[in-house]
Amino acid sequence: MSLIARRIARIGSENAFKIGPLIAEVERGGHRVIRCNLGEPDFDLPAHIREAVKQALDDGMTHYVDPQGILPLREAVARHMSETRGIDVTPDRVVVFPGGKPAIGLCEEAYVDPGDEVIYPSPGYPIYESFTGWVDGRAVPLHLSEDKGFSFGAEELEPLITERTKLIVLCVPSNPTGGVATREQLEEIAEVILRRAPADVRIYSDEIYEHILFDGARHESIASVPGMAERTVIASGASKSYACTGGRIGWAVFPTAEEAGVFRNLNINYFSCVPAYNQVGCKVALESPETPAAVREMVAAFERRRDMVVPQLNAIEGMNCVNPRGAFYVFPNIAGVCERLGIFEAYRGLPDDVRRRTSPSTLFQMFLLFEHHVATVDRRSFGQIGAEDSHFLRLSIAAADDDLAEGVRRIAAAAADREGFERFFQRGEHLC
Ligand code: PMP
Repeated sequence: MSLIARRIARIGSENAFKIGPLIAEVERGGHRVIRCNLGEPDFDLPAHIREAVKQALDDGMTHYVDPQGILPLREAVARHMSETRGIDVTPDRVVVFPGGKPAIGLCEEAYVDPGDEVIYPSPGYPIYESFTGWVDGRAVPLHLSEDKGFSFGAEELEPLITERTKLIVLCVPSNPTGGVATREQLEEIAEVILRRAPADVRIYSDEIYEHILFDGARHESIASVPGMAERTVIASGASKSYACTGGRIGWAVFPTAEEAGVFRNLNINYFSCVPAYNQVGCKVALESPETPAAVREMVAAFERRRDMVVPQLNAIEGMNCVNPRGAFYVFPNIAGVCERLGIFEAYRGLPDDVRRRTSPSTLFQMFLLFEHHVATVDRRSFGQIGAEDSHFLRLSIAAADDDLAEGVRRIAAAAADREGFERFFQRGEHLC
């Protein structure tokens, strides 16, 4: 009998967090690391929301509350979802979770039996693939192509739907690509789903970046397409929109109150409830007339940084960066850089067991961190299945302008440092 249960081997992770100790190691060596790894706004929680949280603490909201989420927050979420998606959402279909993340794993646990198939975007947020393994589902990556701005249409989705499909995950705007979908694309995707998938197949629509859109775009949700609200779990939360990653509040709207009840019970089992003072803050965030201006200021900063960083990355020989249209990441293709630095050749020469645990973009990511002191995240961290020939890097642009400018300078220097890569590779210390 082994100490750790076998199922633990089936769960993945989120490397943006896992590289924290590696950054600390570089910093202990006396270097300042430019951190472009974590997906977290470099803004503070807006003052009016902070005040609401403090007031809630003073009001004694530090006890157990409804495991489904406090009613005032569920009402605010229902109103927001109804107004912005053009659908009719009632608070009994809303469940509050400790962050945007738990809804992903809990939906896989609640909807997916062993052997059921989960279609999810790749590159995509790693937790979709991670939890598919955990529940013993079959992972079916929907590979997004750079040529299409990392969006997809009916022709990519339709061949993946089978009689075992149970969950179809969408993420708009996307982490890590910044891709968004137009209403027409969503209608096309919905048409395929309505035609090919039975009514109990659920769409998990991860809309946590719903407010972070550039170029004057408006958020579009697949739940707004007629016939889709009945099949879609709409997930969002406070982490990105209100710069409240540490407040741990997310929410999801379920197709029926009965399904919401399943998640209420899962919350009871896992969390009991979510801190009430932060829920009060989120209610205020959703309803206050002061919120839109605060969100606009943050989004304008991300858009300005995108406009600064993308041309600079594209000026690096061997790098090609699509212009993201939402979220706060850039996702350059680094195949040319890998070629330039001899990374492909080095990778091919690795012993099998090391090669399995790394990739060309991982080698570049590690070289960047340990030799040029910039923390980024490799392609492999956003879905591994079938991604062997895909060579990208994710940089978060939720960092100060000066840090970003310095980070890009260091990346440009690394992309020209063939000898440095050779030395790093020969040392063989941080290859995966
Ligand atoms: N979904 C996506 C697409 C994300 O990028 C993130 C955060 N990186 C989450 C969900 C989870 O957010 P939270 O921190 O609120 O759990």
